Amino acid sequence: MALSGELWAELPAERRIFCSVLLFSWAVYLWEAFLAHRQRRVYRTTTHVPQELGQIMDSETFEKSRLYQLDKSTFSFWSGLYSEIEGTMILLCGGIPFLWKLSGQISGHAGFGQEYEIVQSLVFLLLATLFSAMTGLPWSLYNTFVIEEKHGFNQQVLVTIYADYIAPLFDKFIPLPEGELKQQIETMAKSIDFPLTKVYVVEGSKRSSHSNAYFYGFFKNKRIVLFDTLLEDYSALNKEPAEGEDGENEETKSKTKNKKQGCKNEEVLAVLGHELGHWKLGHTVKNIIISQMNSFLCFFLFAVLIGRKELFTAFGFYDTQPTLIGLMIIFQFIFSPYNEVLSFCLTVLSRRFEFQADAFAKELGKAKDLYSALIKLNKDNLGFPVSDWIFSMWHYSHPPLLERLQALKDAKQE
Ligand SMILES: [Zn+2]
Repeated sequence: MALSGELWAELPAERRIFCSVLLFSWAVYLWEAFLAHRQRRVYRTTTHVPQELGQIMDSETFEKSRLYQLDKSTFSFWSGLYSEIEGTMILLCGGIPFLWKLSGQISGHAGFGQEYEIVQSLVFLLLATLFSAMTGLPWSLYNTFVIEEKHGFNQQVLVTIYADYIAPLFDKFIPLPEGELKQQIETMAKSIDFPLTKVYVVEGSKRSSHSNAYFYGFFKNKRIVLFDTLLEDYSALNKEPAEGEDGENEETKSKTKNKKQGCKNEEVLAVLGHELGHWKLGHTVKNIIISQMNSFLCFFLFAVLIGRKELFTAFGFYDTQPTLIGLMIIFQFIFSPYNEVLSFCLTVLSRRFEFQADAFAKELGKAKDLYSALIKLNKDNLGFPVSDWIFSMWHYSHPPLLERLQALKDAKQE
C-alpha cells in the first residue's frame, strides 16, 4: 500500500488527474451496475402484487410491467457497459485532442484560421454530436423496435412528451366554485397561516403527469391550483357553469360521461395538506437557496480551474487551452465526483422533504385520507411498484408509493 502510494506521488500531476478521472468513472459505473443488479433481483423474485395495492393493480398488469422492467434493465446493463468502455477508449486513445485537431483542419479548409477558435469549437461540437448519435443509434433502435415493441410499450415517449410539455400549454384555469370544498380549503389554509388568495381548478385531464396540486405566488399572495383529475366532484361545475361562458356547456357535459375516479373532499384536503407542508416547512425556499449556492460554487471553481495548464495536458492538450475543451474537462470530468455527491445529497434531501410533508399532513389529522388518496392517484402511473431499498435511495428523489404508504401506516399506529 505504502509502495503504491509512493508510486502515485511520483507520477506527474497530469497523469494523476487523468487516472483519477478514469478510476472514478469506473467506480461510479460499477456502483450503478451493482444497484441495477439488486433491482433486477427484485424484478425476478417479486411475482405477486403487494398486499397494499391488491385493489388497484391486477396480477396481469403487474406481471406485464415486471417482465418489461426486467428486459429493460438487462438491456441497460449491456448498453451501459458499452458506453463505459467506449468512453474509456476515447480517453485512452486521445479521442478528444484528435477530434479537436480534425475540427481545426476542417475549419481551416473553410478559410477560418487558428484565430477563429469559435468556429473550430462549433465544428468540434458538431462532430462530437454526430459521433455519439452514430454510436448510440443502434442501441436506441434496438430499445424501440425490439424491447418496447415486444412489450407493447412503444410510442410512450411521444405520449409523455405531449402530456408533460405540450398539453399544459392549453390548460384552462377556472376559479374553484363556492362550496364545501372551497370553504374547507380556506379553513385549512387559515389554520396554518397560509396566505391564500385564490383557488383554481385546472383542466388537466389530458395530463399524465404526477402533479395533482400545487401552489404559487410570492409572499402574502398565494394561489392554490388543483388538477381536475384530483377532484371527484369536479362535475359539480356542470350544475353551476362559470358565469357568462355558455360555450363551455357542451364540453363539460361530454366530460361527465367519462368522469375519472377522483378523490373525495377529505382526500383532496389531505393531498393539499402535503403540498402546504412543503410551504410551512420552508422546503421551497431551501431548494432555491441550495441551487443558487451550487451555481455560485461551480462558477467560482471553474474560474479558479480554467487557468490550470495541467488539466489540459492531462487530456492531451499540450500547447493549446481552448475554452470549450476547458468547459468540457472541468464540468464533465473534474466536477464528476462533486456532481455525484451533490446529486445523492439532493436525492436524500428531496426524499426527506416528501416524508416530512406527509408527516405534516398526518399532524393535521389526515394520515388516513392521504393513504387512500395516494393509492387512488397512483393507480394509473404505478409502473412496477416494488424496488430494492438501496436502488430506491440512490435513484428516486420522490419515494415510491409503497414506501410512503409504509411511513403513513407507521404514523397511523403511533
Ligand atoms: Zn411533495
